[in-house]
Amino acid sequence: MSDTNLDTYTEGQGCTCYAYGEHECGCGADWTPREVYELRDEVTVLRKALNDLLNDCINFDGGTLTPIFMENASKVLLGSDE
Ligand SMILES: [Zn+2]
Repeated sequence: MSDTNLDTYTEGQGCTCYAYGEHECGCGADWTPREVYELRDEVTVLRKALNDLLNDCINFDGGTLTPIFMENASKVLLGSDE
C-alpha cells in the first residue's frame, strides 16, 4: 500500500503557490491523480494474489506448471510492462 492517505488526498494538496495545476506549480506539491494511487494499490493486491495462487499451484501440482505460464506470471510479479 502507498503511504498516501486516500481518504483525504486531493491533487495539489498542500500547494502553497496557488497553482491551478502541476504545470503552474513551483512549490513541489503532489499533483499525482488520485486514480494513480488507487491503481498502484490495486496492482500490489493483485500481485500478491497471483503470487499466492502460484504458490498454491506449485504446492498442489508439484511444480509442473508449463514454462509459458510461469514466464507470464513472473513478468507480472516483476512489474514488467512487456
Ligand atoms: Zn504549488
